[in-house]
Parts: sequence; structure tokens; C-alpha cells
Amino acid sequence: MSDYYEILGIERNATKEEIKSAFRKKARQYHPDVNKAPDAEEKFKELGKAYETLMDDNKRATYDRYGEDGLREAGFNTSGPFDAGFGDLNDIFESFFGGFGFSSGRATNPNGPQNGADLRLNMQLEFEEAVFGVEKEVTIRYLETCSECNGTGAQAGSKPEVCPTCGGTGRVQQVTQTPLGSFRQITTCPKCSGTGKINAHPCPKCKGDGRIEAERKLKITIPPGVNDGSRIGLSGEGNCGKNGGRPGDLIVVLYVKEHKEFQRDGVNIFSKVDISFPQAAIGDTIEVNTLDGVQTLTIPQGVEQGSVLQIKGIGVPQLGNPNKRGNHNFIINIKTPKNLSSEEKQLYQKLYELNCNKKPSSKFIDKMKNVLHN
Ligand SMILES: [Zn+2]
Ligand SMILES: [Zn+2]
Repeated sequence: MSDYYEILGIERNATKEEIKSAFRKKARQYHPDVNKAPDAEEKFKELGKAYETLMDDNKRATYDRYGEDGLREAGFNTSGPFDAGFGDLNDIFESFFGGFGFSSGRATNPNGPQNGADLRLNMQLEFEEAVFGVEKEVTIRYLETCSECNGTGAQAGSKPEVCPTCGGTGRVQQVTQTPLGSFRQITTCPKCSGTGKINAHPCPKCKGDGRIEAERKLKITIPPGVNDGSRIGLSGEGNCGKNGGRPGDLIVVLYVKEHKEFQRDGVNIFSKVDISFPQAAIGDTIEVNTLDGVQTLTIPQGVEQGSVLQIKGIGVPQLGNPNKRGNHNFIINIKTPKNLSSEEKQLYQKLYELNCNKKPSSKFIDKMKNVLHN
């Protein structure tokens, strides 16, 4: 396992432009179509993996902090773009190399093992389900090996025939005339997609693909402590591979609904608690809602507006270590009394006199009268 930055020969703070240009340079050098060294293909794959990871901000941040193991744990596919199918990289190759002298950038043998594609499943969770974990049964649609032909794509008893377009090589040559001269361009044979063979009698069940769409029910265990955007990777639950390639993975992406009362910050919970003037002045013991149900919270005498009171260990379980839990923080909101009864008004007036050591001003009394008569 080597360092992605070293593979590309760049600094750790390299910009995307620098990554692109380093990749372009190295990819030309190690492309298996030009470099016949035995380790060229391996190096080329490494380059693709490093490039794909460092160009994605999320993956790069995870890699910088936790390395390749961290990427895998976070549910990212670390096999690199050349094992998981080309996708974006194919376009990049087109723009980098324009096809001149290269066979469309595909480094794998079309008759060799091809790994199945990863599948993505979005899953919405209730707030509490993300906190405490849950088991969900889902139905996924995926490609499985055709049982009729065992994945060969050919009708029983029939054999593939040599492709007449490329004579079995899987590649065709094209000469392109340009103002700069003529270029010999080798491309994948369009008739046989590079396999060199033609399936003259395709399997009727899968129409020659070797794979058919199927449904599968899966129980997915969501561990306690996951958060909005968390990913869970289920190895081997994606589409089946071809020619003995391994199946892809199922990537479950979690979306967590908001709670009407609680806010979550990592493993800690925050909620607002309204208390009255007298409770703030004298102190009290009140009942509060927590993840573990109703609990008692002690309000200390003289608590200030905006104070944060805490009950430790009843927050969100730590992902991977659920016995450790965060804290619940209660933000105190002191409610100013409104619509006072005449008795309350007299008491507040009395308090005013005690606090201010003077009779209320005439302005204050007028205001009080107004409130009283309305
Ligand atoms: Zn062909
Ligand atoms: Zn079939």
C-alpha cells in the first residue's frame, strides 16, 4: 500500500489542477498500451485510484485523516476506477489522449474477469433510528448471473464465433487524416466490443448479456450513532461480475430526518428548556425530554438566560463504540411573564421596590395600570 501523493508525485496541498496535470503526465507514462513493463498495468491502476480519490473532496479529506483503511471503513470503494468500471475516467482519457494510438483507455481484457458495478441505495432514517441503530429490510434490484446460460450469454449447445469485423483481435485500425498528418488510430472493435467473438445464438433468457435483473430482500443492520450522510458498504451485494469477476458492493447512503425538539451535533444533543422568572431566581427540579425518555434536571438558583445545563452520558452513542455516549445539553430560556393577574402584578411591584429600593416611578405605575385594565 503506497501513498497517493507519492504515486502522483505531488505535494500534500496540491490543487486539483496540479493533481490533474500530474495524473496526465504519469498516465501517459504507464498506460499499458505504451508501457510494456510487467508492472505498468499495476502502476496505472494505482494512478487511477490515487487520482480518483484526491479529486473528490470528501474522499480526499477521509484519506488525509485515516488513509486507505479509513476510506474503506467509510464505505468508499478503494479498488480504483479501473476495477469498478471506467465512468468519468473514460471521458478524461478521451480528452487527454484523443484516442491517438490508444485503445480507448481500457486497460482490462474484455474477455478477462470484469467486476460487477457497485449499487447505491438511499435510505431515510428517523432521528432515533440513527441514534440507536435499527435493522431494515430492503428490496434491491441487481444483476445476477443468468441461470440459463451460466453467464456465457450463449444458447445451450452453441459456441461463440470469431468476429468477422476484427478477425478475432478485438481491435480495429482507423487512419485519420488531419492537417498535422495522418494518424493511425486503434480502437475497440464496435462489432464485438473488443471480445473478438460474436454470439451468434444468444441465450433467450438474458438476450446474450449473461446477466439478468433480479430482486433480493436484504436485512441491513444500521449501527447506533450513524449520522446524516453516513455510508454503509455491503461487500459483494452489488451487480454480479462477468467472466469470473467479483460482484460489486452495495453502498447504502443514509439520510436522517430532523427531530422536532432535539438538535444533534456529533454525539451531543441540544434542546431548549423554558423556565419562569421564579424558577430562575429560586431554582427548581423539572422534567425534561431526553433520548432516554423523561428525566429530571436540576435548575440551580440564579441561573442565567442562555446557560447550558448538562446531563452527561445520555447523548448519541459513539459509532463503533456504542457504550460511550455523548451528553445532552439544555439551553435555558427564561420566559418573561405576560398577562399578569392582579395578584402577580402586586407581587412583582413589591419585588421591584425591594430590588430597586424605591417606589416605582409614576411612569412604571401608569404602565402597570394600563396592563391591569386591558
Ligand atoms: Zn470484433
Ligand atoms: Zn443467459
